[in-house]
Amino acid sequence: MFLSWSAALLGICGAAAAVPPAGEIPSKINAFILSLPGLPPTQVRALTSTYSASSDVVGYMSGKPYSQNALTSLACFTAQFVLGNDSVGIPVSAQEADDNWSTAVWQIPSCAIIPNNEQDVSTAVKIISFLHVKFAIRSGGHSPSPGFSTIGQPGILIDMQKLNQIALSADHSTVTLGPGARWGDVYAALDQYDLGVIGGRLPNVGVGGLILGGGYFHFSAMYGLAADNVKNFELVLANGTVMNASVTENPDLYWALKGGGPNFGNRLMALRSNKSNARRNRHALRSQFCARSKHLVPAIFDAMTEWQENGAIDDTLGTVALIVGLETTEVGLLYAQPTYRPDSFTPFYGLAAGTVVIPPTNGTLAEVTTILGESQSQLTERHDYRAASSKIDAQLYKDVYNVWQQQASAVYNATGANQTFTIQPWPASLAAASKSRGGNAMGIPIGSFQAWTTLIDWTNAVQDEQVRAVSINTVNTWTSLAQKRGLYESFLFMNDCSREQNPLAGYGSANLAKLKSVAMKYDPTGFFQNLQNNGFLLSKA
Ligand SMILES: Cc1cc2nc3c(=O)[nH]c(=O)nc-3n(C[C@H](O)[C@H](O)[C@H](O)COP(=O)(O)OP(=O)(O)OC[C@H]3O[C@@H](n4cnc5c(N)ncnc54)[C@H](O)[C@@H]3O)c2cc1C
Repeated sequence: MFLSWSAALLGICGAAAAVPPAGEIPSKINAFILSLPGLPPTQVRALTSTYSASSDVVGYMSGKPYSQNALTSLACFTAQFVLGNDSVGIPVSAQEADDNWSTAVWQIPSCAIIPNNEQDVSTAVKIISFLHVKFAIRSGGHSPSPGFSTIGQPGILIDMQKLNQIALSADHSTVTLGPGARWGDVYAALDQYDLGVIGGRLPNVGVGGLILGGGYFHFSAMYGLAADNVKNFELVLANGTVMNASVTENPDLYWALKGGGPNFGNRLMALRSNKSNARRNRHALRSQFCARSKHLVPAIFDAMTEWQENGAIDDTLGTVALIVGLETTEVGLLYAQPTYRPDSFTPFYGLAAGTVVIPPTNGTLAEVTTILGESQSQLTERHDYRAASSKIDAQLYKDVYNVWQQQASAVYNATGANQTFTIQPWPASLAAASKSRGGNAMGIPIGSFQAWTTLIDWTNAVQDEQVRAVSINTVNTWTSLAQKRGLYESFLFMNDCSREQNPLAGYGSANLAKLKSVAMKYDPTGFFQNLQNNGFLLSKA
């Protein structure tokens, strides 16, 4: 069995005329092969001789010319040999390659490694690191940025979909989540125990990606971000070591992992919530969504700012989801407990009646998440989003909205692209809740502010620039008007950022410097900066 693999490897690398190994190369190759788990001595010997006979391996290791394609193929076949056919797809099926939310990011990698456990992840990282090949990591695949959780050829996709465990501790005080789990499944699994956690607001988003960007939830004003509620991260470092990060173990890394992006390791068990984070009042809640026509947008912005300045401060159990569309605007009122007409939402009760999208419901987090998921477009399309932040100001909202409305409508008429204009409240209590849970790397502004985002859906790649120009212009408008009026916030929420944005810079120079020094400590060779295909990387910040 192995000899046939060995022959295949030699053929791929074109190593008929092997470069004679020099110096330490043979012992380095041997040490690497020995570090791979589960290989009997005969296979270790055969794999070692295959590597030693490869002019590309030896060329790479001795600073001579080599083929990146050949090294990537060798990495794929080594991974398949060690982990098995079920865990490594060569070639990659269309179903596997196209499993990302936005068609704009779809690419076919050289192979896909689908680990079953942390040791498989460690093996993948060791192989990729030794052969110095490009890779991308995918959990839920909801990043709309090309190359962040996808990669073309030569390149390897590490797909975390099988690491999707949702394991509640015996005393129900913590839940261990795999990065490949989806938030809808997490809430559904916890529902039977009357429990919930702080996670994502829509069901299909992945645990892994959401937490590394912080993770904004309906009730973050009360409980902080998803990352703030993580008790322990388990991750695979660049050298394949599996390590924990918590308040007591590697606390500098723990801090950096809370919002610091894909810069430190491959995260395995992403979240354990402690008792106070998994209690009933995250399970049962009240929600209602109502749609109104666009002529009411100015009045809705007035109500929103009044609530942000008063109700959101006085009562941190409530939140408002404000999604302005081209024709209709949805206002969702959510409250972290079963209730009836909370006083804090009073500014919205005076608005002209609209169409009920979700009637006032006291339900569970799982139920509400399902309903919200069903209200989303299920079409397979190109997508993007983009972020901007500002202080609270109704006139600023109206002025930026007018610019956006005009441009988004024109592009809709020309291309059919749908876009939204979403104001997300970040009350002062959110930063305080983060701080009371130990703080994070994100440098969240201390006072109340809004984090704007947009969701953009379109179909034709030819229209990419035309469609994306609206959100780019809108962010520029936010920036210039807010700066002129003293309302600017440089903070950008990573999970809403588009590919060219730089959320890490918005965390502030001190946090950025600290993140870089933590990355240097745990990834001294720059594996995640240099070999990771793309992402919100410190090397770009
Ligand atoms: C419909 C929709 C709803 C959303 N709702 C929310 C919301 O309520 N709150 C919120 O905060 N955000 C929300 N987001 C944004 C979302 O959190 C980000 O898009 C996030 O990156 C998605 O995570 P993922 O695992 O699905 O993505 P992926 O595309 O798989 O990954 C995103 C990034 O994380 C990296 N990554 C993924 N897994 C790992 C891992 N295990 N180790 C290291 N790096 C990893 C990837 O390489 C990539 O750079 C939403 C997005 C969409 C499209």
